[in-house]
Amino acid sequence: MKVPFLDLGAAYSELKAEIETAVLASLRSGRYICGNEVESYENEFAAYTETKYCVGVANGLDALHLALHAMDIGIGDEVIVPTNTYIATWLAISQCGATPVPVEPFDSTYNIDPGQIEAAITTRTKAIIPVHLYGQPADLDPITVLANKYGLRVLEDAAQAHGARYKGNRIGAHGDIVAWSFYPGKNLGALGDAGAVTTNDPDMADRIRVLRNYGSKVKYVNELQGYNSRLDPVQAAVLRVKLKVLDTWNTRRKKIAAYYTAALTETGLVLPTVPAWAEPVWHLYVVQCSQRDAIQKTLGKAGIGTLIHYPIPPHLQQAYAKTGYFKGQYPIAERLASQVLSLPIGPQLDKTCIDLIINILNDYATKL
Ligand SMILES: *Cc1c(COP(=O)(O)O)cnc(C)c1O
Repeated sequence: MKVPFLDLGAAYSELKAEIETAVLASLRSGRYICGNEVESYENEFAAYTETKYCVGVANGLDALHLALHAMDIGIGDEVIVPTNTYIATWLAISQCGATPVPVEPFDSTYNIDPGQIEAAITTRTKAIIPVHLYGQPADLDPITVLANKYGLRVLEDAAQAHGARYKGNRIGAHGDIVAWSFYPGKNLGALGDAGAVTTNDPDMADRIRVLRNYGSKVKYVNELQGYNSRLDPVQAAVLRVKLKVLDTWNTRRKKIAAYYTAALTETGLVLPTVPAWAEPVWHLYVVQCSQRDAIQKTLGKAGIGTLIHYPIPPHLQQAYAKTGYFKGQYPIAERLASQVLSLPIGPQLDKTCIDLIINILNDYATKL
């Protein structure tokens, strides 16, 4: 038996008829940039996230980057960011000419530790980017308190958190702007690259709408030096279909997570911790273990695909070598990078596969 880490083909098959009808209609529409399909999706996703505005863009990195640009963040500015995120969060800051200022996460929830943010704030700090890592909301209230105290913007990286709730409210507009990715492997994934921002601030929505389209609202009139980062209408058509099943698919993920958690308690693995106020959407099911590499190998031999999110923290990537970071500087992120393992989880993962994974992990534990 082969268990892929995530089976995107199976996800496609489940919605094949609806997706193909929607894509064909979009192809036949004669409108290939922006247009109705994009606008409809923006309205539907804004409604889903309980926000006023959604602006579709080309991908998640651009969503973060254009949001920072809309906030007037640039050269000389500092932006607080988790040490243990996907590198895109850092790159968006660097692309603006600003400096990422890393803050460590809790090693239980994997999300930024608000108690460590204040010490990282300087006169140059302009914004904080909490990341809702692995589909679980970061603790936003204390971050908002700090942002208000120091006059900072909050940009949420929600690339892994479509549908998650913080204290009962959907992720979507707690911060000034929320950035989304619809990369195929995300909980709400397109069939190519796609992204969006959501916000309740009409001025921010307007700025991003202009920035994504060459700095232009009226054709050939350019207010700003913008970008070409529009959401493709074919992807919007796909996303409209997939948005309809997002809650159902998230519920399936939640059931798998609960099943893993109940069945893996005796394995010695550190299982996910969910704060009482968090309703995660289980983009990933991540365990921690000092013998991570051996366990990954054992699962691999049995045909089970696992991944590591992420094996090298951004500060130790060659991309940031010139910044002068050193090994040991962010010990929590570094330890997590060596100990986390993501088990297969997805709306099409069946029980036989999950049971196989559980059996192997329990079996491994008895041999220790
Ligand atoms: C996927 C992801 C991004 C980037 O999204 P793309 O659409 O691939 O550009 C940013 N941040 C996080 C946390 C992500 O998981």
